[in-house]
Amino acid sequence: MQVEIITIFPEFFTGPLAHGILGRAIEAGLVQVNAHNLRNFTDDRHQTVDDRPFGGGEGMVLKAEPLFRAVESLGVAPKGSRDRAREQVILLSAQGKPFSQSWAQALTRLERITLLCGRYEGVDERVSDLLADEELSIGDYVLSGGELAAAVVIDALTRLLPGALGNADSARNESFAVAGDAEETAGGGILDCPHYTRPFEFRGVAAPAILNSGNHLQIRKWRRAQALAKTRRNRPDLLARARLSAEDREILRAMDGLDTPTS
Ligand code: SAM
Repeated sequence: MQVEIITIFPEFFTGPLAHGILGRAIEAGLVQVNAHNLRNFTDDRHQTVDDRPFGGGEGMVLKAEPLFRAVESLGVAPKGSRDRAREQVILLSAQGKPFSQSWAQALTRLERITLLCGRYEGVDERVSDLLADEELSIGDYVLSGGELAAAVVIDALTRLLPGALGNADSARNESFAVAGDAEETAGGGILDCPHYTRPFEFRGVAAPAILNSGNHLQIRKWRRAQALAKTRRNRPDLLARARLSAEDREILRAMDGLDTPTS
C-alpha cells in the first residue's frame, strides 16, 4: 500500500513514522509513505500556498491550485473516473466525517491514498468539491493542522495490514474490531477487556485471580464480560450497534438488573 501526504511540513512525519509497528511495517515494505512539500507546487517566487478569505474575516486559507498540482503530479486519476476506484484522495478536516476502525479497515483495501493536510483557517472548498473523495475528521476538536490527523490515519490503517502485527489475532481482539466470533474478547464492535501483568499485587490491588487459574474457557468468559462492562460504562453508544451473542445479552441484562434500584 502507498500513502502520499501533501503538507507544508513534510519533516513533521519523520518522528511519527519511525517507531514501533509503523516503523517496522515501513521497513518491511508493507506500506510506503511519501511526504510531499506543498510549496514545491507553487509558481511564484515566495512559494505562496495561502491567501486571504473571500468575504473577509480572520486567518488565511490554503489555495486550491498548489493542492491540485501536487495531486495531479502523482498521477492520481480524476475524481469520479473508473481508474480512481483503487485509490482515494482524503482531505483532513474538522468538518469531515468521523474516522473509525471500520473506515481504517476499508482503507487497507485500497492500493494508494493521498492525504491532504490543511492549515490556517482551512482549505479552499473547491478541493473538497473537485479533488477529494472524502473529508475525514479524527474527532470533535480543532487541530492546528492536518499533519497529526494524517499520522493517526496512517497508524490506524497500517497496523491492520496483513503482517504488520506480530500476532495476526491481535487486531481481531482489539477495541472496535467488528469481525468476531465466540473466541474474541472484543469482537462485535465493543471495547477491549482490561489487561494485567506482573506484579500480581500492586499497591494493594490484586489482579483478578481467574487470570491465574489456567482455565482458558473461564478466562475467555471473564474477559468478554469485562469488555461488555467497560463498554457499558465508557461507551454505551457502541452497545446500541454492537454485534452481540445471546450470552452477551444475558450478561448485560444481569448488569442492568444489578443497577435497578429495589424498593
Ligand atoms: N476553520 C476550521 C474549522 O473550524 O473547521 C479549522 C481549521 S484547522 C485550524 C486547520 C487544519 O487542521 C484543517 O484544515 C484540517 O486539515 C486540520 N484539522 C483540524 N482539526 C481536525 C480534525 N479534527 N480532524 C482532521 N483534521 C483536522
